[in-house]
Amino acid sequence: MPNVIGENLSRGIRFITKNPQILYTVFVAVVIIASFLFVSQLFLNIVVETQERFEKHRLSSMHDVFVELAKKEINNPTYLSGVIDELAGRNETITAFSVVRNVNDKRFVIAALDNDEVGKEPTQNPQIFNTSLIDPESSFSFEVTDGSERYFQVVRAVKGPEGRVIAWVVTESSLSQFDALTRKNIQTTYFVLGGILLVIIILLIRHARIIDYSTLYKRLKEVDQMKDDFVSMASHELRSPLTVIRGYADLLKSINGLSEQDRQNIDRIDIAARGLDDLVGDILDVSRLNQGRLSINMQDVDFVSITKDATLGFQHNAEEKGLSLAFTSGDNVPHIQADPDRLRQVVVNLVGNAVKYTKQGEVAVKLSHDKDKVTLRVSDSGIGMSEEERKNLFQKFYRIKNDDTKEVKGTGLGLWITKQIIEKMNGTISVESIKGVGSHFIVQFPISKK
Ligand code: ADP
Repeated sequence: MPNVIGENLSRGIRFITKNPQILYTVFVAVVIIASFLFVSQLFLNIVVETQERFEKHRLSSMHDVFVELAKKEINNPTYLSGVIDELAGRNETITAFSVVRNVNDKRFVIAALDNDEVGKEPTQNPQIFNTSLIDPESSFSFEVTDGSERYFQVVRAVKGPEGRVIAWVVTESSLSQFDALTRKNIQTTYFVLGGILLVIIILLIRHARIIDYSTLYKRLKEVDQMKDDFVSMASHELRSPLTVIRGYADLLKSINGLSEQDRQNIDRIDIAARGLDDLVGDILDVSRLNQGRLSINMQDVDFVSITKDATLGFQHNAEEKGLSLAFTSGDNVPHIQADPDRLRQVVVNLVGNAVKYTKQGEVAVKLSHDKDKVTLRVSDSGIGMSEEERKNLFQKFYRIKNDDTKEVKGTGLGLWITKQIIEKMNGTISVESIKGVGSHFIVQFPISKK
C-alpha cells in the first residue's frame, strides 16, 4: 500500500514539474476560495454588528420613554406592571423586564414581566447597577450568555425629583433569533463554497485533460516534424540516383544499331524513372508546403508564354491518345505577379490531368482577362466528375475511385499542391464538371498594378 501511494505521489510530482501551469491553477483556486471566505466573513461580521447595534439602540429608546413613566408612577407598581406586559407583548425578543427600587441602598423588584420576581432582590449581577450610575442619563448594555443563548441586558437608572437614583429599569433581550439567522447564513455560505469547490475541481480535471492533450499535441508535432524531415531527406536522396538512371537511359537510346525491343525497354526505364521523379517531386513539394518552406519568388510574369510553352509540352502525349490539344489567348493579356516556375507547375498539373483523364475529344487551354484579373481555363471532354466526387477534390491524397480512373496512375497530390501554390500567389482555383461530359478548371490571378 505505501508503495502505491509513494508511486502515485512521485507520478503526481513528475506531472506537476512537467506542467507548472497546474500549480498556477491550484494557486488561483486557493485564492478564489480564500477571497470568498474572507469576503463572506467580513460581510457576516458587518451584518451581525449592525443587527446588534440596532437592537441596543431599540432597547435604549424604549428605556428613554419608560424611565419617564417610571419616574412618575414609581408608587404605582401595578400600573407599571401593566405597561411592562404590554411592551413585552409587542417585542417578542424581550425575555425579562423589571423595575428595581433603590431604598436605602437596598434593591428589590417592584414590577416585572415575571411576577415571581416582584418583592425579591434582582437576579442580575449587582455590578450592572453600579455601572449605570456612571451616567444615570444613559442606558448601559451588557452581553450575557446562558448556555448557548446570548442576551443583551440593558440597565438604566431612574432619577427622582431630588436628583437621586430612586430606581432602575432592567430589560433582557434574547439574541437567539439573530444567532439562528447568522448560523443559517454561515450554512448557506458553506453550501455555496461547496458548489464553488465542485466547479473548481471539475475545471481542474478539465484543465489537466487539456494539459494532457497539449502535451500529446506537442509530441505529435515533434513526430510530424520528424516525419517531414525524413520524407524531405529521403526524397532528396532518391533524386540523385533517379537523375543518373534517366541520364544513362538517354545515353543508351543514342547508341546506334539498337533493336526495336531494346529501344522499347529503354523507353520503359525512362518512363518509369520519370514517373518516380515526378512522385518524388510531389512529395518534396508536400513536405515543403507542410513546413512552410516552399519558396515563392514573386515577379512580373508573362502568363501567356508560360501557359503556351507548358501546353505545347503535352502535344506529344495528346497526339498519342488521339486528342486535340489547343491553346488560345485573348489579345494583350497583361502580366501578373507570380513565381514563373511555380506558375508553370500549375499549368503542367492542370493540362496533364486534362490529357490524363480524357479518353477522346479535346483539351482546350484558354487565357483571357478583364480589368482586374487574368483567367486560365483548362477544359476537357474527359470523364468528368459528379458533385459528390468533386467535394474533396483539393484535399491531400484524394483520388476519385471508379471504373474510369482505376487504370490511371496518380497519387492524389497534384491538385492539392496546385491549389496551395495558386493561393500562395494570391490566385484562386475552381472547377466545373459534368460526369461523362468533361471538366473545366478555372484559375484566376489579379492583374499586377504598376
Ligand atoms: P492524381 O491525378 O495524381 O490522382 P490529382 O490531385 O491531380 O491527383 O487529382 C485528384 C483526382 O481528381 C484524380 O484522381 C482524378 O480522379 C480527379 N481529376 C483531376 N483532374 C481531372 C480531370 N481533368 N477530369 C476528371 N477527373 C480529374
